[in-house]
Amino acid sequence: MITTRFAPSPNGHLHLGHAFSAIIAHDLAKAQDGRFLLRIEDIDGARSRPELADEFRRDLEWLGLEWEEVPAQSARLESYDTAAKRLLDDGLLYPCTCTRAQIEHAATEQGPEGAIYPGTCKGQAVDMAKPFALRLNLERAMEQAGAITWSDDMGGETIADPRGFGDVVLVRKDAPASYHLAATLDDAADGVTLVTRGEDLRSATHIHRLLQALLGLPQLAYHHHLLLLDESGKKLAKRRGSPSLADRRAAGEDGVLLAEQLRLHSFPAGISLESA
Ligand code: GLU
Ligand code: ZN
Repeated sequence: MITTRFAPSPNGHLHLGHAFSAIIAHDLAKAQDGRFLLRIEDIDGARSRPELADEFRRDLEWLGLEWEEVPAQSARLESYDTAAKRLLDDGLLYPCTCTRAQIEHAATEQGPEGAIYPGTCKGQAVDMAKPFALRLNLERAMEQAGAITWSDDMGGETIADPRGFGDVVLVRKDAPASYHLAATLDDAADGVTLVTRGEDLRSATHIHRLLQALLGLPQLAYHHHLLLLDESGKKLAKRRGSPSLADRRAAGEDGVLLAEQLRLHSFPAGISLESA
């Protein structure tokens, strides 16, 4: 049975891009009598606003979607700890006390998430009295995982190449896990079979596939969809003030009709789909 999910972070209102993404996940599952899950990704305690989770549920209902909700990330901290401990015991993680500014200063390469960590703390005795993150020793991890691939249902099989992430943070200084660790564990725990999300997260799949291999989790299928763009050709973002679904709902717009239009790629004025 196919299981998909929509996994929004409650740090801003949902916008049309989220609706588009949720509808794709919903419809792919429902077309095959599968399950469509909602998972609130509130791992980032400092930025999460609990009241937004309720707003998200109302948004999805307004769009006419049906879902099963699984536990939010804040209820799963133990599973993140257990996995991090296992990777630590396997010698695959190391503590890092560097600040963002230090990393920016020392870095020589950029990856999909900004400056690639230059490995300053690797193999060093760091002062554990300071706040520290746990980073993946990528070289060792890739060696242990061997040759691994992942598949996108549109684009075929790809070699997992997470090198652009460098020694990525798996346990943050300020949160019990990083998005990469939490989402990978959750998708496995929730029995997701097809991960659907925007093209902007395609590169993250490389690191998620590596974590699956290291943690003995099942390999999943992926569907990366094109993003919606605003008038200026930039992807819709919570931060750039595109009208939220909650605004549209409050203005009396018909959500079911909007969902139908998004399915037909008939977008409101100014909104377009990026080209493939
Ligand atoms: N919580 C992530 C976001 O809001 C979702 C990532 C995913 O679908 O894997 O961008
Ligand atoms: Zn460091």
